[in-house]
Amino acid sequence: MLTPDQSAPQSGETPDTSRQRKIPLDELLAGPPDQLDYPPVRNGVDYLVSVVDHLTNDRVDPRGIKYAVLHLQAAAEVLLKARLVREHWSLVFEDPGRASERDFRSASFKSCTIGEAVTRLRNIVGVTITDAEERALNALARDRNALQHYGLTHNARAVEARAGSVLDFLVRFLDDVLLPKLTFGEALAVQTDMDRVRDGLTGVQTYITQRLRRLRGELRGLEDRTVACPHCEQMTLVAEGRMNRCLFCGAAVTTKDMMVYIFLGSPEEDGSIIDSCPRCGQDTVMLDTELATGDRAPFCFNCPGALPPADIPRERP
Ligand SMILES: [Zn+2]
Ligand SMILES: [Zn+2]
Repeated sequence: MLTPDQSAPQSGETPDTSRQRKIPLDELLAGPPDQLDYPPVRNGVDYLVSVVDHLTNDRVDPRGIKYAVLHLQAAAEVLLKARLVREHWSLVFEDPGRASERDFRSASFKSCTIGEAVTRLRNIVGVTITDAEERALNALARDRNALQHYGLTHNARAVEARAGSVLDFLVRFLDDVLLPKLTFGEALAVQTDMDRVRDGLTGVQTYITQRLRRLRGELRGLEDRTVACPHCEQMTLVAEGRMNRCLFCGAAVTTKDMMVYIFLGSPEEDGSIIDSCPRCGQDTVMLDTELATGDRAPFCFNCPGALPPADIPRERP
């Protein structure tokens, strides 16, 4: 649900009440906010402050990760929809064709999903959201559902790394899309929180960078069979044949499961990106795979390694 005055997500999470502040002086001086999208932006940034507080704790525990993910999802929903509201309030309805202003004002409507918001932002508003950013948002939505129903069953490091990607995207989205259109008073009112979020993001990125640097030694010599991990999305998954292990998040993925991930991630319009291997005969080749060496090539997970491109004479369907 999204209303002009209040934009709590459907799940009912609200930012910590301890963080509700009194209205800053400059905001009073600037007069009442005159834009529909300002309260959601402020609310979204408030969620992000909670996210970085949870992710940059000295010891990130499962509870911290849980709240980081829940609040990150709430922030994504509020911020993406704020841009839709700026375009036209009917765009946050599940079915804009049946939208009414009365329902919008009274917040009695079913709003669109985050995935649908991404599509509308791209197609109607013309906002650039990359495929990688969309994938990170989808992965976050899955983490959030899993956490709500089962608690943290996934590997905490992978969830944390994925949360870092969405946080990075939302800060860019605020900087490029939302903040430039706020009035001076409005921008000033969220500035302190934005500074805190930016510092937090740098902290999360530093943590990831440092961890990757530590792993560089362990990965040395294995680059030609190291690919991106489907869990944490880092270039740290070492293919060992039947099993694939991620040194960043610790995930162990069988080659069979890997094929399922790849199949599910195949772009719909291009057909499957899985092929059979001329070397070992198994259907375990992912076409156009990015390797830790920096090359792209067809890659067989079963007899782990890249294939020379000429090995697969292929008519793409
Ligand atoms: Zn991983
Ligand atoms: Zn093979």
